[in-house]
Amino acid sequence: MKVNLLDFDLPGLIGWCEGLGEKKFRATQLFRWVHHRGVSEFDQMTDLAREFRDKLHQLAEVRALPVVQRQDSADGTIKWLFDVGDGNAVETVFIPEDDRATLCVSSQAGCAVGCRFCSTGHQGFSRNLATAEILAQLWFVEHTLRREFKQNERIISNVVMMGMGEPLQNYNALVPALTVMLHDHAYGLSRRRVTVSTSGVVPMMDRLAHDCPVALAVSLHAPHDALRDSLVPINRKYPIAELLDACRRYLPAAPRDFITFEYCMLDGVNDQPEHAQALVALLHPPGGAGVPCKLNLIPFNPFPASGLQRSPDAAVQAFARILLKAGLVTTVRKTRGDDIDAACGQLAGDILDRTDVQRRVARQRTIELVRTPHI
Ligand code: SAH
Ligand code: SF4
Repeated sequence: MKVNLLDFDLPGLIGWCEGLGEKKFRATQLFRWVHHRGVSEFDQMTDLAREFRDKLHQLAEVRALPVVQRQDSADGTIKWLFDVGDGNAVETVFIPEDDRATLCVSSQAGCAVGCRFCSTGHQGFSRNLATAEILAQLWFVEHTLRREFKQNERIISNVVMMGMGEPLQNYNALVPALTVMLHDHAYGLSRRRVTVSTSGVVPMMDRLAHDCPVALAVSLHAPHDALRDSLVPINRKYPIAELLDACRRYLPAAPRDFITFEYCMLDGVNDQPEHAQALVALLHPPGGAGVPCKLNLIPFNPFPASGLQRSPDAAVQAFARILLKAGLVTTVRKTRGDDIDAACGQLAGDILDRTDVQRRVARQRTIELVRTPHI
């Protein structure tokens, strides 16, 4: 199979091009064509020598992921379901707002962490995505929407690794993908606008601080270990005290001077005033031994298999008031893309029934074949 150029960060592409006898600056030109301009046809890369283009034709391609389905929400949110082979599919969500446009990117097909309130977690783990499969989500959406919106300028300003999967359990593919997101010759995103969200894979948080510090969000969901053990099973391996130590170690390298803690509000489980008070004691104790942070409360998005309910609005507001009063910066996440099941934690309801995905992938391929009969 041909090499997928989306699999390379810039040093990797330089190494590969040098192996073909091409100079470093040629690799940089190629990298810009692919990521900055969204060109996948080598013939359009007019400033590359004919010979180099011929070699590229033979050996390489820019291979995006086949789209199984696209859904457009009334609020402008767009969700794509991409086929990653063997009956697996991953989802990517585009969320436009007044002052930014965020892409929520998946890192794995399924997830091995198995959080109780997460539909991806309920599917189990299928496999890690390759760097190319992580980047293909950004490459495809950015350049597709530029064409659709007839815009030459960058569309996506923020990336959050909050789609399917635990990004820090796919570290080796994640880091090259992040460096491409940040690179000026590619997407040129600011480190502050690329966020890795983790359930708390402590050793990898330390490595990320060293290898590619970007904004960090930590899925906390409970103020003490007994409850967190039952909601986020990785807590048994890396309990809260170790997790918070890792957050403190991350901050000196971080592009922002706080950690975002995500807290999914589950009716009667973790949403009571005593939970809020315990959170204050944990994160903002008197004497200043806490963690500089912002709290992001996420109203739970229910799915049938979870057996859990969303906290009533009044409980979320009362919870937020306790945190705010104690001086913790707290926001309640707006739900976007409700009508297309694109909200947090609803992703990949679709891989639950693998046969269904296979059927839809097959149907989509048939549609494509009908549309392009020369294939
Ligand atoms: N695996 C990473 C990133 C993906 S999940 C992590 O857990 O951080 C992104 C966010 O959505 C996490 O904070 C996660 O806890 C939250 N989430 C998962 N399921 C949810 C649901 N059903 N409703 C609301 N938020 C959910
Ligand atoms: Fe995995 Fe994150 Fe879902 Fe937990 S919340 S199962 S870590 S994707």
